[in-house]
Amino acid sequence: KSRWSLVGMTAVVTGGTRGIGCAVVEELAELGAVVHTCSRNEVELNQRLQEWSAKGLTVTGSVCDLASRPQREQLIGKVSLLFGGKLNILINNVGTTYHKRTTDYTADDYSFLMGTNLESCFHMSQLAHPLLKASGVGSIVFISSVAGLVSVDVGTLYCAAKGAINQLAKNLACEWAKDNIRTNSVAPWVIKTPLVDQVMDDKNKFTSDVESRTPMKRLGEANEVSPLVAFLCLPAASYITGQTIAIDGGFTVNDCF
Ligand code: NDP
Repeated sequence: KSRWSLVGMTAVVTGGTRGIGCAVVEELAELGAVVHTCSRNEVELNQRLQEWSAKGLTVTGSVCDLASRPQREQLIGKVSLLFGGKLNILINNVGTTYHKRTTDYTADDYSFLMGTNLESCFHMSQLAHPLLKASGVGSIVFISSVAGLVSVDVGTLYCAAKGAINQLAKNLACEWAKDNIRTNSVAPWVIKTPLVDQVMDDKNKFTSDVESRTPMKRLGEANEVSPLVAFLCLPAASYITGQTIAIDGGFTVNDCF
């Protein structure tokens, strides 16, 4: 078997209909994995499934709100049936933010943003553990953020959740190494996706601020994140675990300025 192929492997990618998740679904499927994804919007999900099928990629999908504990349980139940109780790859991609001053965040904001960004990843990893272990070769990749490594003004709760995700990747790497499950985290800087469009107040100012602070003088593309995510799942990455790797055009090495 090639060290550079995912043929024969199964994968779950949360939030695969747009942005980074969508690029990751395609990357894994193009390397030969059989992929199951999810999102909350059934129409968009069906549209993506049709597009992938037309490209010859093996992808199925479920409507699921990852912020809901019972829906996460249902999703893994379905995945277990679909893949015979085994899973090789879990990509914890779903995440979101909205900006408020720290003093303005309410208890509901806290529950929503921590629930969507951190608890969903934690619980999905718990739920997937027996399946990943049963497959014999498991890999989890968390889609974290540069906002979990340094201070970036995109919402304190989001940043706190992303910082916690990086730590989660380290702890699980140690706890689950005996089960042959590797866990890593990738930390992108600003990537052109619908989420970024939604969060920006003044698009031109935001873009020029980011460009001026980034050594490579541009934003990233979703398909510049997906190759690293896929690499971390390959047999070729078999000794890499517990790491957080930035994909940032040099932003964090340049003191973020
Ligand atoms: P988008 O908002 O562009 O896409 C998010 C995807 O996840 C969509 O498919 C969306 O579908 C799905 N999704 C969102 N919430 C839920 C939910 N509760 N349940 C199920 N599916 C959901 O996001 P990005 O691609 O930009 O971001 C993906 C990840 O990358 C996030 O964790 C984000 O924090 C991280 N990231 C993004 C960066 C960026 O600059 N874009 C930078 C650093 C990290 P639907 O809404 O229909 O459910």
